[in-house]
Amino acid sequence: MSEERHQNLAIIGHVDHGKSTLVGRLLYETGSVPEHVIEQHKEEAEEKGKGGFEFAYVMDNLAEERERGVTIDIAHQEFSTDEYEFTIVDCPGHRDFVKNMITGASQADNAVLVCAADDGVQPQTREHVFLARTLGIDELIIGINKMDLVDYEEGRYREAVDEVTELLKQVQFNPDDAKFIPISAFEGDNVADDSDNTPWYDGPNLLEALNDLPAPSPPTDADLRLPIQDVYTISGIGTVPVGRVETGMLNTGDNVSFQPSDVSGEVKTIEMHHEEVPEAGPGDNVGFNVRGIGKDDIRRGDVCGPADDPPSVAETFQAQIVVMQHPSVITAGYTPVFHAHTAQVACTIESIDKKIDPSTGETAEEEPDFIQSGDAAVVTVRPQKPLSIEPSSEIEELGSFAIRDMGQTIAAGKVLSVQE
Ligand code: GDP
Repeated sequence: MSEERHQNLAIIGHVDHGKSTLVGRLLYETGSVPEHVIEQHKEEAEEKGKGGFEFAYVMDNLAEERERGVTIDIAHQEFSTDEYEFTIVDCPGHRDFVKNMITGASQADNAVLVCAADDGVQPQTREHVFLARTLGIDELIIGINKMDLVDYEEGRYREAVDEVTELLKQVQFNPDDAKFIPISAFEGDNVADDSDNTPWYDGPNLLEALNDLPAPSPPTDADLRLPIQDVYTISGIGTVPVGRVETGMLNTGDNVSFQPSDVSGEVKTIEMHHEEVPEAGPGDNVGFNVRGIGKDDIRRGDVCGPADDPPSVAETFQAQIVVMQHPSVITAGYTPVFHAHTAQVACTIESIDKKIDPSTGETAEEEPDFIQSGDAAVVTVRPQKPLSIEPSSEIEELGSFAIRDMGQTIAAGKVLSVQE
């Protein structure tokens, strides 16, 4: 399986520090610009009688793509190094980043933090680093960007490195797990090649650093967890739930259980990309058929797992949340909709147990009366309908959620413990 060689990469950092430009540069340098962008460029170049394939052109096209791609939440963009295939969980918009990190089709294994040398640490640099840590990113590569704007001065680079190091310490992120690289996404310095403009730097360039990242541990050994996206009835086969395997393996002949619907049966067939397969693993999108289960027995939001160790259904759960944007204050009793894997369930925040200082991760206040935008807190939550959810320390893919209300994502969080 190629899963071991795959990495989901988040590009994070303050607005205008160069995230989109860096994504464009990475795609350009690795020859991974989407085919239709190249085709379109060729046509336009021929019309104008020009040749060549310029970076600036790629950027324009990717920007247009993004503007047009209103329906695509995460712009999946891929490139390869010798070691890995990277999928960029591209998150140019601040709010999108938070939502995608949590509910996105793919969660980031690692992140590149972009921090502009001329601007240093800014509010969203802070917030993204805190979220990255909350959501379990262990390794950070930090591109100190726009080095061309500070004349490639080592002193300016060091200042920015010191500021970011200070921030990492504040959120208890071990600076030893961070790699700093002076780059210019726009000019291409130290992205794919070692730059002559930074003779004082002898570390790896960005692609080398990405190549050296530790491999994410493939969650094939864990128990099967397969959140159900849809349930179809297909003539000749019967009921076919579909979804993506998050952890573990699905094999024909396995006895599986669907929770919270609480039904179980034996897997008869598994189909992937219109072909029957004997097994499926993490990342595989499958449709499968289970003996004796009808269309109305299961539903979207169920989680499929082994019958002898079924996914847990929470009576209540304790979670750490970060409030991104709420017009007023959140108090105990508040009941917004929680989006966890494929489930959407109204849940009541029964109690706000403590407030956490977002910059240190330490308890700021026990049992506060309310929390508001910018606050991080530990809360106890009671789902209003059965919800299958797991502590993120055990199964990260099933322990994250977004909280939505009034048509927007107001908070995000991770499950700490579940009371069944
Ligand atoms: P984002 O909001 O973080 O995605 O930032 P963008 O990639 O949109 O970049 C914001 C602005 O900074 C754009 O005008 C870019 O052309 C410019 N920019 C990005 N990287 C560099 C760089 O390395 N050097 C210079 N001089 N400008 C850059």
